[in-house]
Amino acid sequence: MSKVILLVDDEEPVRHMFRRMLGAQGYKTMEANTAESGWELFLECEPDLVVTDLKMPGKDGLWLAQQIHSQDPNLPILLITAYADVGSAQRAISLGIYEYYTKPIDLHQVLGGVQRGLEFRRLVEENRSYQEELERKVEVRTQELERVYQELLQSERLSEVGRLAAGVVHEVLNPLSVVMGRIEMVMMDQSLDDRLRKSLQLSREQLKRAVKIMDNLRSFSKQRAPQRELMDVNELLSQTADLVAYETRSAKIVIEENFGALPEIWADKDQLSQVFLNLIKNARDAMPEGGTLLLVTHFDRQQDRVTVEFKDTGVGIPEDIQEKVFELFFTTKKKGTGLGLGICRGIIEAHQGTLTLKSNVGEGTTFTMTLPVSKKAQTV
Ligand code: ADP
Ligand code: MG
Repeated sequence: MSKVILLVDDEEPVRHMFRRMLGAQGYKTMEANTAESGWELFLECEPDLVVTDLKMPGKDGLWLAQQIHSQDPNLPILLITAYADVGSAQRAISLGIYEYYTKPIDLHQVLGGVQRGLEFRRLVEENRSYQEELERKVEVRTQELERVYQELLQSERLSEVGRLAAGVVHEVLNPLSVVMGRIEMVMMDQSLDDRLRKSLQLSREQLKRAVKIMDNLRSFSKQRAPQRELMDVNELLSQTADLVAYETRSAKIVIEENFGALPEIWADKDQLSQVFLNLIKNARDAMPEGGTLLLVTHFDRQQDRVTVEFKDTGVGIPEDIQEKVFELFFTTKKKGTGLGLGICRGIIEAHQGTLTLKSNVGEGTTFTMTLPVSKKAQTV
């Protein structure tokens, strides 16, 4: 595309001369006869270079140059003046005028200036696009690094906790069961006074809670490699939902199923059932006033993956904790352990699957899991 040059001069013969010379070189020219109309035309036609007279009726060429550079500091401007006025020449240079010529005009000199100015412009633009490209690349890489780093953090934390848990659970569960046994023995004493009995009951409840946490931890630390068999995800999901049907019904939660036709997959039934149970229980907890839990399954033929969604109409998860909920021990519940989702993700990832969530506060949460179908994908 031919370059556009804006000519600003109050004398038509001068413009005519430039028009012919530049036209002959293949440039397109636009013309204005005052600095003000030159500025308007500049905004309209976005030229690649400007040639302007210094002295014109009304505003002068330096005013125009200032206007233009406030908009585009790198636009080359060539200034022509009738006076070999050193003062305005210096001012012009300090204002970033590209080149400066005095009348009588040497056309070849100006043409050389136009070519240099346009080349300068091209280099500036090229440089800018390189820089933008570079910034974009850095940005993408930084995000990638951040993601990998977070994954690493997560997986290291998981295996570290797993190791720790195995030891701690073993050491703590035994004394806990001794204390539990003693409490129950004392409570069998019929002559026990009511206050004491109440306080022992409370201790027993708290102790049960501690045992539950330990149990959860143990199942996490014992997380074995999945023992895969060919299984039907729809069937397992239905069965698991039935397990808690009584509980969810009394919590005024309707479970709806929207199952697609799925191929059987190679997966560990016990482990998957544990995941389903956790997600259903979390949904129940998120709907204290009742609501709907929609279970959707779907086969993505292209990816050769089965997708399972748990969509609840619960309280939702604020954006700033959406990733945190997968961390071990992160809970917002008074009696929560914060282990459920960490375990779920561990299991799903051991199946080469993914577990993610989308949520809007006040609207609900959707947990989405994908699992590969072919056995080969799962054994790599
Ligand atoms: P726990 O259930 O013991 O708190 P989880 O790891 O299962 O531990 O869940 C961690 C946290 O994630 C919960 O305390 C809760 O804040 C949030 N959460 C999980 N599932 C949902 C859900 N369906 N809706 C809203 N919040 C949820
Ligand atoms: Mg939970």
